[in-house]
Amino acid sequence: MAVTEDEPPQGGAKAKKPRKNAAKTSKSTRQIKHRKKINRCEHVTDHYYASGMCKNCYHSKGRVKMAELCDHKDRKLYARGVCKACYLRDYHNRLRTINEEQPPPSQEAVLNAFIEKDRRTFERIANRGDQA
Ligand SMILES: [Zn+2]
Ligand SMILES: [Zn+2]
Repeated sequence: MAVTEDEPPQGGAKAKKPRKNAAKTSKSTRQIKHRKKINRCEHVTDHYYASGMCKNCYHSKGRVKMAELCDHKDRKLYARGVCKACYLRDYHNRLRTINEEQPPPSQEAVLNAFIEKDRRTFERIANRGDQA
């Protein structure tokens, strides 16, 4: 006598009450305001970087200061308040000035200085030996 579980037991079938779909309209879902949001470039889905722009755009157009300390105030600032051309020119001038002020010692000069120092040291020792 096998009882098939598939069939409901005779007579005692409970009618299932349809569950009430309590559609709770939750008004608590506030939209969080993103302070760091890309709104200054078109890549709104990219990762935020700075100044309302994605990383690429920030580096390419986020820092657009103009040169102030040279005559080319219509050019973009490169470094130290001047444009790129002026900065590079100053840089090379500085290098040249340094080289002119302190010329690299020639090999002969180094050798002479070494010999001179050695000679003086030798004389000092010799003189001390005489005096003692
Ligand atoms: Zn961008
Ligand atoms: Zn300049």
